[in-house]
Amino acid sequence: MAENGIGRLARLSQTERSALMSTIRSKDTKPEMLVRHYLHGLGMRYRLHDTKLPGKPDIVLPGRRVVVFVQGCFWHWHGDACGIRPGKPRTNRAQWETKLQGNVARDEKHRLALQAAGWRVLVVWECELKRGVRGATLHRLTSEITAADDLPPLEIH
Ligand SMILES: [Zn+2]
Repeated sequence: MAENGIGRLARLSQTERSALMSTIRSKDTKPEMLVRHYLHGLGMRYRLHDTKLPGKPDIVLPGRRVVVFVQGCFWHWHGDACGIRPGKPRTNRAQWETKLQGNVARDEKHRLALQAAGWRVLVVWECELKRGVRGATLHRLTSEITAADDLPPLEIH
């Protein structure tokens, strides 16, 4: 007999459950919404989740040749610089290790492809949007976005 979703959810460990829940919410994560609202408030116009670009960047500012990825510290494995330092799940450790390393390698591949196509790639980490550091992060992001405002807009095909 097929197990229903609730039964499956109940059997998960805490870590597996939070991992699953963040997958479910991955489309419009709260950190991403924070960044979007902030940039929108500054009058910046952008596209979301552009599937035509490598890695489907969360926020694309075509006129400025900038893409922004808002990355979860666990799934994209922020590593030693992380202000949250999520633990790796204790069960199926090797499997998780492979999965997370794969995510990191894929992010890097997308970054290189975007840069090769003339985009500036900015990354905001989930931990950088925690209360207390959020303001400084968004301020830094804004300076990075506007740093090259004298550049001509990039044609998008
Ligand atoms: Zn982090």
